[in-house]
Amino acid sequence: MKNILLTLLLLSSFSYAKINTMVSVMPQKFFVESIGGDKINVSLMVKPGNSPHSYTPKPSQMKDIAKADIYFSIGVEFENAWLPRFKSQNKEMKIIDISHGITKIVMKQHSHHEEEHEEHEAHGHDDHADNQHESKDPHIWTSPDNVKVIAKNIYTALVKVDYQNKIYYKKNFDKFINHINQTDKKIKDILSNTKPNSKFMVFHPAWGYFAKQYNLEQFPIEIEGKTPKPKELAFVMEEAREENIKAIFTQPEFSAKSANQIAKELNIKVIKTSPLNYKWSQNLINLAQAIAN
Ligand code: ZN
Repeated sequence: MKNILLTLLLLSSFSYAKINTMVSVMPQKFFVESIGGDKINVSLMVKPGNSPHSYTPKPSQMKDIAKADIYFSIGVEFENAWLPRFKSQNKEMKIIDISHGITKIVMKQHSHHEEEHEEHEAHGHDDHADNQHESKDPHIWTSPDNVKVIAKNIYTALVKVDYQNKIYYKKNFDKFINHINQTDKKIKDILSNTKPNSKFMVFHPAWGYFAKQYNLEQFPIEIEGKTPKPKELAFVMEEAREENIKAIFTQPEFSAKSANQIAKELNIKVIKTSPLNYKWSQNLINLAQAIAN
């Protein structure tokens, strides 16, 4: 009896050994879980409320790295500094860039050249601000078209590591592509009466790919990745007035102070929404709805 139990235990732990994966941001957790289902575990690096542009992993997360079979990177800034360290912590771990095959766009930033000189004098030349001008937008997951490419990359990687479950992954992949297509259709329906190139204002410019796919235009409040100073804020406010902006979107990872100031002055709404939401589809649909209103 004892032997049978032991055998059963060994068998079950063998057949249920899951693939341990790690992801950088929350929407990736949703994508990987949609395709990997119950064959995988997903650990999240950037916990809710933190910015993926400047994240520092916790020591406990280095333990997760030590156990991981795959790290799905997406191209957010903290990865540049940390992926090499993760790799040295766990040399067996595969690092899969799920942005592979996606054409990145330039991150839209305010720049007003008259003030630029003064700006740099006041704050010194920190390279973060300098690079912002040309940096590519890492928020690729806000476009359903991009998520199809991401899904394919995840599927391919899982099949490579766990070929015996290929049929299972394929079924989930097809279901997920269907989910993306339905999301896209819903967004198009919602925006069907919205004028092309309609403008929406955001604190942090995270919706560039969404805007591109649906012929919208996002206006960021942030200037070169920073909260605008009073003089700059007046400029942004003037722009919001000129463009007849009806609402401002903010996300909990960043301060809403300047958005609230503009909204109060122009008597418009502030709507909270985060591109880092796990409910990826509903989140995009909600944004479309808010823009359409
Ligand atoms: Zn961001």
